[in-house]
Amino acid sequence: MEALRAYLQAMPQLSDRLLEQLSVAMDSEGGFDYNNAEEMRAAYADAQQLALSRVIEEKTPYYAVTYPQVFYKCQTCAAEVRGAYYEISNPITMKRGLFRVRLMHEFLAHGATFYREPILNVSETLIGYDEHHLDVRKLTTVLAGLALPEAVREDLGQ
Ligand SMILES: [Zn+2]
Repeated sequence: MEALRAYLQAMPQLSDRLLEQLSVAMDSEGGFDYNNAEEMRAAYADAQQLALSRVIEEKTPYYAVTYPQVFYKCQTCAAEVRGAYYEISNPITMKRGLFRVRLMHEFLAHGATFYREPILNVSETLIGYDEHHLDVRKLTTVLAGLALPEAVREDLGQ
């Protein structure tokens, strides 16, 4: 699964691209006045459009983090990971899919394709474990139609 992992690690986050475009616009000649709320809003909308059209031109899948106000603390590496889901989008087919942030972190940072969560009953006694697996089939559906490297296809079972 190393090829798939590297491929997903390199996947751009839309908000990073947005910030890049925003700083380009700020530095450019005739840039906007960021103290002016109206200009700032217009510049933001332009940058968002530009960031989106770039990933579409590049035919690169990208992701956005939903519920960024939510954090989860990884017990393996102590990283505080932001968001509830990665929403991965395919700019060619417009297919999207939601993947739990914890699963993405387990896979991207630690190479694990699943994690276990304790199941407790009402009196907090451990009654078992719930296993969450990376949904490779869903990932395959989202990434279909893109020019994927051969090794990534193999990891996806194609
Ligand atoms: Zn971790």
